[in-house]
Amino acid sequence: MSSKYPEYEDPMAHPRYTGLATFFRAPHTESFAEADIGIVGVPFDGGTTNRPGARHGPREVRNQSSLLRPYNQANGLAPFNLCKVFDVGDAWVTEAFDLEKALGEIQSFFARLHSAGVIPLAVGGDHSITLPILRAIAKEKPLGLVHFDAHCDTGDDYLGSRFHHGAPFRRAVEEGLLDPKRCIQIGIRGATVLPKLWQFSYDAGMRVITMDELQSLGVVGVIREIGNVVGNEPAYVSFDVDGLDPAFAPGTGTPEVGGFTTWEAQTMIRGLQGLNLVGGDVVEVSPPFDPTGVTALTGAAMLFELLCVLADARFGTSG
Ligand code: MN
Ligand code: MN
Repeated sequence: MSSKYPEYEDPMAHPRYTGLATFFRAPHTESFAEADIGIVGVPFDGGTTNRPGARHGPREVRNQSSLLRPYNQANGLAPFNLCKVFDVGDAWVTEAFDLEKALGEIQSFFARLHSAGVIPLAVGGDHSITLPILRAIAKEKPLGLVHFDAHCDTGDDYLGSRFHHGAPFRRAVEEGLLDPKRCIQIGIRGATVLPKLWQFSYDAGMRVITMDELQSLGVVGVIREIGNVVGNEPAYVSFDVDGLDPAFAPGTGTPEVGGFTTWEAQTMIRGLQGLNLVGGDVVEVSPPFDPTGVTALTGAAMLFELLCVLADARFGTSG
């Protein structure tokens, strides 16, 4: 690790419970030029439709991530050896009471990161934050999408807003940021407020894998299907922790029972190795509903799996 961070002491030299909490105890910088991958907190939950609190997600994921180690035993990946990973701080907003302005500020942060050539890995915040990230990084060409969630998040206007956390992927398709034919949504389930709430996904040609289909395909079948849909062109990964069963991730705004397990999630993310990944996020960790910290720990673990395949895609043997 030291060769990649000549200015930084070995983060494993000190006990895990000491020092300032950064993501994975990676060094913090606000100089984007230093970073290959920038992990960004997005402490914003102004797009929530039910329980709020995801604005506190980045801090708790940082805290819980101190337990994680630099090597992934399952696939042998060591992201901090493949590239320079930095905690680049928070994309915090100055006008948090105005949803569209807030999303604009988040977009500006990620646009600066993108123009500095830094690969973004974000921690929300609610799912509304993915739209401004895509606006910042998908301008040149529509991306593919691997989306883990209980919900398709392709709903329409709600309570007078087009940009709440149940609609980012509809807006992203409408804005030409995603190629719907190269989008796959995994873990979908639950009762809905309208019988065809997520009809947009089907009409646009997105591949929807419900929990029932996930169970019948198995994780190996899902991984195969992800490869078929996304192909070799650039793709983004978005992981909503409510895709997990609330037994594993209770601290979230819109929990849905009957979800996938942490092991299934880890295995599916590891199955993204070899895809042309250009960024990702973990969203909807809500610490006020997470008294044991298990959801933040789980979010941190999913973030680590994403970091591994992202670093490998851009800087490893798959790149
Ligand atoms: Mn979501
Ligand atoms: Mn969800």
